[in-house]
Amino acid sequence: EDEILADPVAKIAAVGGARHPSIPLPKDLFAPGHRISRGLDLSDVATLDATVRAVKAPLALGDTPAAIAAEAGAAVAAAVGRAQAAFPSWSRTPVDARAACLERLADLLEENRDRLMAICVQEAFKTIPDAIGEVREAADFCRYYAGEARSRLRAVELPGPTGERNTLHIEGRGVWATVAPWNFPLAIFLGQTVAALVAGNSVVAKPAPQTPEIARFAVELAHRAGVPEDALVLVTGGPEVGAALTADVRVAGVAFTGSTATAKRIARTLVADDDRPIVPLIAETGGINAMIVDSTALPEQVVADVVTSSFRSAGQRCSALRLLLVQADVAEAVIEMLSGAMDTLRLGDPADPATDVGPVIDRASYDKLMAYRASVTERTVKTLAAPADGLFVPPTLVRLDAIEDLDREWFGPILHVATWEAGKLEETIARVNAKGYGLTMGLHSRIARAAEVTEAAAAVGNLYINRSMIGAVVGSQPFGGEGLSGTGPKAGGPHYLYRFCAERAVSVDT
Ligand code: GLU
Repeated sequence: EDEILADPVAKIAAVGGARHPSIPLPKDLFAPGHRISRGLDLSDVATLDATVRAVKAPLALGDTPAAIAAEAGAAVAAAVGRAQAAFPSWSRTPVDARAACLERLADLLEENRDRLMAICVQEAFKTIPDAIGEVREAADFCRYYAGEARSRLRAVELPGPTGERNTLHIEGRGVWATVAPWNFPLAIFLGQTVAALVAGNSVVAKPAPQTPEIARFAVELAHRAGVPEDALVLVTGGPEVGAALTADVRVAGVAFTGSTATAKRIARTLVADDDRPIVPLIAETGGINAMIVDSTALPEQVVADVVTSSFRSAGQRCSALRLLLVQADVAEAVIEMLSGAMDTLRLGDPADPATDVGPVIDRASYDKLMAYRASVTERTVKTLAAPADGLFVPPTLVRLDAIEDLDREWFGPILHVATWEAGKLEETIARVNAKGYGLTMGLHSRIARAAEVTEAAAAVGNLYINRSMIGAVVGSQPFGGEGLSGTGPKAGGPHYLYRFCAERAVSVDT
């Protein structure tokens, strides 16, 4: 580890994976029955070769989502009707049996890893390390929520002074709508969905319009794992499908990951009808995520963690670093090293294991990011050349005069850097908090007091100290933000399932 830290290029390669198979990495990648996913194991080159061949083989993809979107209203109403009819029997299915379905699904995900990765690469332009991460995180969510459901979703007797028998039951609420993003088209799509299911709800699941195929296959596997067909119904399509789904008064809860604007639209929809029950919304949205670096930080580690946090997945993670805040005394040195490290990033075909940064998701996203990049050329400290063909947004570093100059999330590989003055850590954090988002924040410092101050002051859901800011691990690093970044529930955490449940207290005079 020390050796890796001393060599930023090696560290970057270790984190990004593919180019330096000699660097020791966790060995369990392809092992069945793993619990928690970390890193990319290249020790089994034969397996990796087979995976890459599968990823590169052309896939036969199904219908385009537009066909279903054209009749959004009727298709959605039918889907909710089916899920509603399935609810009574699924909710009465014992929690152990529901959990067993999730465990079988985790096994099926691993058995079908190559095809799942291939769809992720071809449909969402995931790099190979990211595609592996998708499958593993999806399986982790299934196993983790299965275990949590088994241990937590039990009726409890509550003794007390009343002399009565008091029982608190915990059960499903009804039909949940789960609305997923394209950036984790398998892990988040399934994570939200299986959480709702194992809690005893039936689900109508809607993937992002960019990534319907991975969702189709995931739902097929869930049905094969034993989830009744009508307890999990897939609807695909664009915003009109999402709007029809969340407006359906039979929907008893919505779990959404995506933009802040869409989350607010859903919240308004859920209260629009006076006769509709009041239903919960779980929203996980974006952020203007900052990393604060002081003069005691190890520059090599900072640079490696910044590159990972900003440019991995082409910056298309809610958790990604958008605003690097370096103490003025060391800023120029850090910026220079960072520029050098950016030169090592390889842009290209996501199906090539050596690729660090693939294309962004679609033309609309590409156009938006490239227009912004063109508007800040005068402030651009560093950028890379993009391959001639494809939707490649080159990793770009933009210098800001003030923290306040960045007032929105750019969902791609564009990092902003500004400085702060020694002694102003708390004020700097307050200025970041003032943006109103609250998803991730990073700190690089060797001073214990700086960590304490940041921990107390940072208004974020996930704080990362002396490490990268992405890749929250299911079960260990529950993920989710506050403020404009979401309603707070932590995916992959011990309290998540409760958010999908109703509780009922029954008191009997004995
Ligand atoms: N959980 C992911 C991470 O920690 C981010 C999820 C998202 O982008 O929505 O990087």
